[in-house]
Amino acid sequence: MIESSRVFRRRAFHRQKAHLILSAMRHRAAELGSQCDYRRTDTYRAGLSGIDEPLDVVQPTSWAALHLVEALIAERDLEGLPARGFATSRTDFASWADGRGGKRLLLEDFYRDARLRLDLLMEGDRPITGQWNYDADNRAAPPKTATLGVADPWWPAEDEVDAQVRADLDQMAAEGVEFVGADGPRRFAATRAEAVAALSHFIEHRLPDFGRYEDAMLSGDRWMSHSLLSAPMNLGLLDPLEVVQAAEHAYAEGHASIASVEGFVRQIIGWRDYIWHLYWYLGEDYRSGNALAARHRLPTWFAELDPTGTEAACLSSALTSVRESGWAHHIPRLMVLGNYALQRGWDPAALTDWFHRSFVDGYDWVMVPNVVGMSQHADGGVLATKPYAAGGNYINKMSDYCGECVFDPKVRVGENACPFTAGYWLFLHRHRDEFARNHRMSQMVRGLDRLTDLDELIEQGPRG
Ligand SMILES: Cc1cc2nc3c(=O)[nH]c(=O)nc-3n(C[C@H](O)[C@H](O)[C@H](O)COP(=O)(O)OP(=O)(O)OC[C@H]3O[C@@H](n4cnc5c(N)ncnc54)[C@H](O)[C@@H]3O)c2cc1C
Ligand code: SF4
Repeated sequence: MIESSRVFRRRAFHRQKAHLILSAMRHRAAELGSQCDYRRTDTYRAGLSGIDEPLDVVQPTSWAALHLVEALIAERDLEGLPARGFATSRTDFASWADGRGGKRLLLEDFYRDARLRLDLLMEGDRPITGQWNYDADNRAAPPKTATLGVADPWWPAEDEVDAQVRADLDQMAAEGVEFVGADGPRRFAATRAEAVAALSHFIEHRLPDFGRYEDAMLSGDRWMSHSLLSAPMNLGLLDPLEVVQAAEHAYAEGHASIASVEGFVRQIIGWRDYIWHLYWYLGEDYRSGNALAARHRLPTWFAELDPTGTEAACLSSALTSVRESGWAHHIPRLMVLGNYALQRGWDPAALTDWFHRSFVDGYDWVMVPNVVGMSQHADGGVLATKPYAAGGNYINKMSDYCGECVFDPKVRVGENACPFTAGYWLFLHRHRDEFARNHRMSQMVRGLDRLTDLDELIEQGPRG
């Protein structure tokens, strides 16, 4: 195993992400004992020096690392192995996608194909309840309570490996290596045993409430009923199939409803695998898509995870969550952080880099399609037929933020104009011509014609 110090010197990662990855690597090395040759070097290439034996390498998780592996294969005795950690193989995905001529690669179709192929929640070739998808039951507004009231997520206990990682990171910081975000207790599983404990805890205590409030946000409940399993799955500590089979078992035992279990299974063998395969299938140039010609830089407060840089309660809370834990759930990522950037025309490549560095579960394969495609519509509609842009009304419906905010989600011009509402209309105005040609957007664009205060709004700007 090679711990490359240059990785941290090149870009400013979240302090807790650096901690998690080093902790996971060092714990694994300790488990392997003398079977593991653990090298701390400047680069990966330097880590291979002096090894003459043949080596195998599992397919890495970025185009850049794949190119390094390809170069090494040409230079030395190194065999590339297929990727691990996904439920659908590359061959199965290619045959599904090629079967439709590489077009209309819809998540729902891929997901149904995967359910059938993997025999999950199925009775023969039919979904077990007769219904494929409980998406409509997964979007309830939050309850009018401060928290969801479910058991806390599983938390790890740090040990001497973590203490050493923390000391090493302190030393790196003292030597000038930059990190973003706050240091804090490790929140995510770093060993196989911890990951299995985190999975069991989620299935037993939190899965039953997962489905209904999947999209809801509460200012007093950062974790809601989410699994926090993306980090251990992406680290290879849990196999996605064992995760969804555990959820399927909970349904069979009557422990969780079909809406919760199906919703969870869809996220993993559906979305997670779909994103992974699209990353490779759509090719290396996909990352540089910028269909909406968004070129603005990220403001310093956002780049540095400073929640005091904005008065918008929802945005400040999402940034606090990222700053304090390197994590926020899907809706703050998509409908708060991503939505805000989309409305303001921030450069999608810079935003992808920001997400990648700031989130504990961020890797190139998962950030590029999620940010360039899903969140910023920079691929021109390959991954989502319309941009995920929304005004303050959506956030007001799905959270309790607006009540404590200095802005008013219904107002777009004036002192208390909501930056999301103002930003939404200005975004539509900026792209009026191209959206008028998109049948899913044309109705929203027509709404612009009914605004009597558009000139004032343009003069005021998006605020916030
Ligand atoms: C802009 C943006 C950036 C994102 N960045 C990442 C990232 O860097 N790494 C990452 O793993 N996920 C990413 N996601 C997807 C999703 O938000 C996270 O997987 C999820 O919030 C992690 O928390 P959780 O494990 O509690 O998820 P849960 O809500 O419990 O969901 C269960 C699992 O579903 C999977 N999943 C669901 N949606 C996606 C998706 N769109 N892409 C990949 N996996 C998905 C994850 O493995 C997750 O653990 C991103 C989404 C958006 C919109
Ligand atoms: S009023 Fe606007 S800025 Fe404030 S919390 Fe609501 S959506 Fe966010």
